[in-house]
Amino acid sequence: MTLIAGGRVIDPKSGMDDFLDLALEGGRITRIGEIDPGAGRYERVIDARGKTVVPGLVDVHVHFRDPGLIYKEDIASGAAAAVHGGFTSVVCMANTKPPVDNAETLAEVLAKAAKAPIRVYTVAAVSKGLAGKELTDMAELKKLGALGFSDDGVPIRDAVFLQKALAAARDLDVSVSLHEEDPALIGVPGIHEGKVSAALGITGAPAVSESAMVVRDCMIALATGARVHIQHVSCAESLELIRLAKRLATEGQAARLGARITAEVTPQHLALTEDAVRTHGTLAKLNPPLRTEGDRQALIAALKDGTIDMIATDHAPHNIEEKARPFAEAPSGLIGLETALALGITNMVLPGHLTLPELIGKMTAAPAALYGLDAGYLAEGGPADITILDDRETWTVDGFVSKSANSPFAGRTLTGKVKYTICGGKIVYQDAVY
Ligand SMILES: [Zn+2]
Repeated sequence: MTLIAGGRVIDPKSGMDDFLDLALEGGRITRIGEIDPGAGRYERVIDARGKTVVPGLVDVHVHFRDPGLIYKEDIASGAAAAVHGGFTSVVCMANTKPPVDNAETLAEVLAKAAKAPIRVYTVAAVSKGLAGKELTDMAELKKLGALGFSDDGVPIRDAVFLQKALAAARDLDVSVSLHEEDPALIGVPGIHEGKVSAALGITGAPAVSESAMVVRDCMIALATGARVHIQHVSCAESLELIRLAKRLATEGQAARLGARITAEVTPQHLALTEDAVRTHGTLAKLNPPLRTEGDRQALIAALKDGTIDMIATDHAPHNIEEKARPFAEAPSGLIGLETALALGITNMVLPGHLTLPELIGKMTAAPAALYGLDAGYLAEGGPADITILDDRETWTVDGFVSKSANSPFAGRTLTGKVKYTICGGKIVYQDAVY
């Protein structure tokens, strides 16, 4: 039995925010309240006074590159990065090599995931080879353990194919996560078509390449009655469209059919603008790109008002040589698991955009709800997936546990440090200084 004593316990799902103790046994939380440490046989007592105790964080968007691209990351190293960041549940994307578009690759991923110290899930691909032409065997992949479906990394170009995919997903009662960028409208991906791209002489990715696809896909979701999750929203126009689509999903035919629209934002889109490309070069190259300050402010407002449901990292490891290529040839993406919570506290809580419980809710209960995971909450009888943090401690980002180090946040001083990560009652990470 473990006792976590005296911390500020925040559970966004129930609204709990109080100084309490937690007793853990057999992988579950057995009691939350005022607990006499002498009354039970506790093998371990964690003194959490001055710390904050929250549900283990949940990330619905990571790339662990396993199988096939494990020089960038693998499931073990990705899980290690996750526990450093306070995450106990993550959902891998399917754009591995080969992609998770068949039963064999799915089984391989799930076998490796089962050995991880945290809960590693995966979606499967919507289309075979992520080519957007032929549906995967969604029923079989769901049965074998795929949480949902996504061709993330590449958008689904063909509207008729998307409609077919969403109808199949609706019949299987699973959600489809969509990467919204129309390649036909993009020059060089990963840089916003705006003042910085103009100064660099690059034709970039305009906001309309995202918003045009968001509106198409939301409308198809409403007409189909599907559950669609819009990944890494980046521009103000998309947010207006998601607001409208969410309202329409509660009315008439769409509501009767069971349509649901959810959306995520990344910590990097909340923290940075297109200007980061000037200072960080390819480290600030990501799809969809960092956009204007106006877009960043719109994302913050949308996270506050619930248009955006959750924060997801889009943890996307690439090695140094790949990121050293010329801008147009370098791969897009950055790693995010080890900095996500601190970026949230630094950029959202300290300036007063969100309270700490609100931020934690966007990183626990909301992402868990997307897939109906038994995670993201603290309750007696619930899983002992717990993160203990110091929300006032400042630290400088210096080195990563991930196999890759492609982060524009290296060297930054952030507030909010993970002290313990506990998954299924086991301590899977403990900060060197406690
Ligand atoms: Zn994506």
